[in-house]
Amino acid sequence: MIPFNKPYMSGKELSYIAEAHFHNILAGDGPFTKRCHTWLEARTGSAKVLLTHSCTAALEMAALLLNIQPGDEIIMPSYTFVSTANAFVLRGGVPVFVDIRQDTLNIDEHLIEDAITTRTKAIVPIHYAGVSCEMDTILAIAKRHKLMVVEDAAQGVMSTYKGRDLGGIGDLGAYSFHETKNVISGEGGCLLVNDASLALQAEIIREKGTNRTQFFRGHVDKYTWQDVGSSFLPGELIAAFLWAQLEEAEQITKQRMGIWDEYHKLLEPLESHGLLRRPIIPDHCQHNAHMYYVLLSEELRRDKILQRMKTEEIGAIFHYIPLHSSPAGKKFGRASGELVNTDSCSEKIIRLPLWIGLSKNQQQEVVSVLEDAINNI
Ligand SMILES: *Cc1c(COP(=O)(O)O)cnc(C)c1O
Repeated sequence: MIPFNKPYMSGKELSYIAEAHFHNILAGDGPFTKRCHTWLEARTGSAKVLLTHSCTAALEMAALLLNIQPGDEIIMPSYTFVSTANAFVLRGGVPVFVDIRQDTLNIDEHLIEDAITTRTKAIVPIHYAGVSCEMDTILAIAKRHKLMVVEDAAQGVMSTYKGRDLGGIGDLGAYSFHETKNVISGEGGCLLVNDASLALQAEIIREKGTNRTQFFRGHVDKYTWQDVGSSFLPGELIAAFLWAQLEEAEQITKQRMGIWDEYHKLLEPLESHGLLRRPIIPDHCQHNAHMYYVLLSEELRRDKILQRMKTEEIGAIFHYIPLHSSPAGKKFGRASGELVNTDSCSEKIIRLPLWIGLSKNQQQEVVSVLEDAINNI
């Protein structure tokens, strides 16, 4: 069996957890959390990074920080994970779904302005497969219409756009450290507060609406309830685990890239025979090898191909059911225009196994089984 994913361990996770345990530091914002914050701020250039329980939690913090009110509209792709939309729907926001580009499967920046109304508050680009959206255009639109930009960079740790780290480009950004991502802590994530004027409020929202973080810094002599908030900070054991991963983030990315490049080479002949399309990475985007996917040619029957791969014990899977066609998406959001590429790409995509330790022989096997399935179904 070749599974779709296998979490990578750097080897130091348990000793860092033991260290936190030894020092009796278990609640959030201890020394490991601070190390993670400092590392992520240095890496991304963000004014303030705050660990959260998940990327979902970071997006929920973003919706609170932007003070999203019932009826406020948030522009995003439909081809994304539920949390991108759900975080704003929790505040009464209305997701407005825009189609994606055929090349990167990211939001089509040229369709954003058509979706803007007087109720629009923010644009939420998601960097699919760790490949950046066209951020310069998106930032220019946001500036012109006085909108905030929240990057769902859940898949984008260690990726860059024109040399800038994803998540560190918009007003706010969010990373995921979920087990299925590149750098992991089981469940986990962080909010990147790039607009420094939002940093204090972000700390308050994350600490149950109190100024406890300022109190611990010695900036106030007692802490009280300041505003709405919740408990968004992870305990120190999670941060200890994450620290063992961040230390290896460069190495993790390099190893995944080797596997990604191998797939890209092996699949070239299938692309030239018109059987599928490989990922397209724009020149100014450095990706992080989060995912290797192929888009089948129109006429091929994906479900049967996936079934065949399953029978051959290959963990290949499809991806998002577009949010605009999901029950909650229909109830809480609306589509802006026809989402042609969203519908078509979501029906043609197959994601292949990609994890550190996957051998070249195994990759060859994945590609052979895929080729055989395409040719015989
Ligand atoms: C994984 C993912 C999330 C959710 O991340 P969690 O850490 O599991 O909350 C959100 N958005 C996108 C695009 C993702 O890929």
